[in-house]
Amino acid sequence: MPSSRPQWSKRSLTAQALGHVDPVTKAVVMPIHVATTYIRDADNGYSSGFVYGRPDNATIREAEAVLAMLEEAEAGALLFSSGMAAATAVFQALSPGDHVVASKVMYWALRHWLLTEATRWGLRIDFVETDDLDTLKTAVVPGQTKLVWVETPSNPLWTITDIAGAAQIAHAAGARLAVDSTTASPYHTRPLTLGADIVMHAATKVLNGHSDVVAGVLAGARADDFWAQIVTNRKGQGAILGPFEAFLLIRGLRTLHLRQAAQAKSAMALAQRLAAHPRIARVLYPGLPQHPGHDVAARQMENGFGYMLSVQVSEGEAAAIRTAAGVRLWKRATSLGGVESLIEHRASIEGPGTPCPPDLLRLSTGIEDVEDLFRDLDEALGAS
Ligand code: PLP
Repeated sequence: MPSSRPQWSKRSLTAQALGHVDPVTKAVVMPIHVATTYIRDADNGYSSGFVYGRPDNATIREAEAVLAMLEEAEAGALLFSSGMAAATAVFQALSPGDHVVASKVMYWALRHWLLTEATRWGLRIDFVETDDLDTLKTAVVPGQTKLVWVETPSNPLWTITDIAGAAQIAHAAGARLAVDSTTASPYHTRPLTLGADIVMHAATKVLNGHSDVVAGVLAGARADDFWAQIVTNRKGQGAILGPFEAFLLIRGLRTLHLRQAAQAKSAMALAQRLAAHPRIARVLYPGLPQHPGHDVAARQMENGFGYMLSVQVSEGEAAAIRTAAGVRLWKRATSLGGVESLIEHRASIEGPGTPCPPDLLRLSTGIEDVEDLFRDLDEALGAS
């Protein structure tokens, strides 16, 4: 199958996991390769390209090929053992003393790692509101800033950063732009086509989509020295995914387009109905025209605005926690992107220093009947 300009749409290619067929059995599902080592050739070489299981695994490469196709990544994609392993590999490719500008609103555990571990590594990090390009421009230091890291839509307020604008600012300062695109997924946004250098996903979320794999992925715009350093880091630090998880990820990816279409449609319907709910003070969803990032989101997201939204409960934190405790169909759990809808009082998990308001509930919309999802929330809000 041609790789640079595929004949078929991303949806068709993803549904068939690129259409690869096992050459031995002709099976339409590729086998799971579990070997940790490979036989050398008679001339002492490894013409298969597979030497040892830590860097080399055919099932992982299958999944990476699908992800690289989805992200239009010329350098390809690299799978990691978690989203955090993928994200931290980017920062560990920097040198001590390098300056980083990162989104103030981002996945809380990564912000915590940057504040604690990355600074021990010698990185200098400023957290700013990257949804305001003037603020971002002021924060980058030409010649010193080596990386701009943005998350969009950003967890859990769903602020939107203009990727093309951020790329221009980063590049003008001599920095790279990396985008945590976990909640957009390639179904809604392809950051590399907008000028980003690296895109990262917690594949644990909607890419796998079934809450049964922890995985991360990076995709690169070009195979330059920085990308080579990331490849070296993954190999050396061994932050690889297991083959069974890679197989499950391929299986999940096959239905990405169907799941995401249904999830985005339901999320929009819920956002609109909850915006008119007497017990909801505010709905945060980039699909609503009143959301501050709506215009940028409408430009850089396609096929809708994603499956994540948050609501602020009118009667405050205690009522929000009671609502999360009162649902019956929504599952009260952390994480996002699965086929089952999840609800979470986010400030409880993020702790001190979070930009998340205490009355906020984060909603990850699954594929259930949207009428059931609304009724369950409505009843829980009423009871609270
Ligand atoms: N980025 C975002 C936006 C996330 O929501 C998460 C996890 O929730 C991560 C990164 C980290 O991914 P993982 O849990 O697979 O390490």
